[in-house]
Amino acid sequence: MQKQGINKLTIKNKLQVAGIARALPFSMMRGGAFRGMFGAMISGIVGSALIIGSSSEALAQRDFSNVEISTTKVTDSIYMLTGAGGNIAVSAGADGVFMIDDQFAPLSEKILAAISEISDKPISYVVNTHWHGDHTGGNENIGNAGAVIVAHENVRKRMSTPQFMKAFGREVPASPDSALPVITFTEDVSFYFNDSEIQVRHLPHAHTDGDSMVYFSDDNVLHMGDTFFNGFFPFIDQSSGGSLDGIIEAAERALSISDADTSIIPGHGPISGQADLQTYIAMLKEVKDTMTPLAKSGQSREEVIAAKPLSALSEQWGNGFMKPDVFTGIVYDILSGS
Ligand SMILES: [Zn+2]
Repeated sequence: MQKQGINKLTIKNKLQVAGIARALPFSMMRGGAFRGMFGAMISGIVGSALIIGSSSEALAQRDFSNVEISTTKVTDSIYMLTGAGGNIAVSAGADGVFMIDDQFAPLSEKILAAISEISDKPISYVVNTHWHGDHTGGNENIGNAGAVIVAHENVRKRMSTPQFMKAFGREVPASPDSALPVITFTEDVSFYFNDSEIQVRHLPHAHTDGDSMVYFSDDNVLHMGDTFFNGFFPFIDQSSGGSLDGIIEAAERALSISDADTSIIPGHGPISGQADLQTYIAMLKEVKDTMTPLAKSGQSREEVIAAKPLSALSEQWGNGFMKPDVFTGIVYDILSGS
């Protein structure tokens, strides 16, 4: 077993290693969209609505000083970290630390401190489940600390150029080179690390066009990124290539590789299992069945939203970051092709 680094890297399709100098100074906080749903469930979600509609300048002024990183032990070697932003997974073992997503840049110090409580070994790899800033904001800091950042090629593409998130009318500037993934893949990639196969699987056109889920097959732990909002309507980022059908397919694919004992880490929300995922899939299908005829009916976006077609689902699913009216509008846009 190698002291550091993967024992074997299995590559399907094209794998690209970009030689990126990590010399740029820390200069920019990546604009992130979400407050952690996990924390939000406890403390209320007023803040997230304010953040998502804000400019990146307002976001840069956001105060993270009160955010605490909580660590949940999932198995003997896998942990979930929550703070603000997407749920982080950490594998800690003889080879070192393997990490999935890294929240916001101002939290890096706290995240690194929390990981140092788990392992005294360095972070070897970070896999980004997608490009959004609440999952990649720590890339620069953690990359500078020595980790290799890995993601689907569309994550690097979107982070490399300014993005416009149509759903929120928000511009997100390009990330500095030192925050970009240095290894990209086009479909799937497996790591053999800490005595486990870590399967990274691309999920096309789901929450975005660069989503991956990560399955620790020996530990039976699955991180789904933002293809799974546990307990909430999901955000589907149409302007980043996301789609309703794709997010349903992603969730069904995740279900197909899981079993009754799988621990499933969602992008946002509490850790869960198959039953929660099945409930989520049923909700998404009901949304599709309800919204498809409305989106094709000739009614305007405003008329459809005003009719509150998802009211039967909203009490259970509409209390998160995606408010029912906003979610209805996003799904209308996707299904009507507008
Ligand atoms: Zn996201």
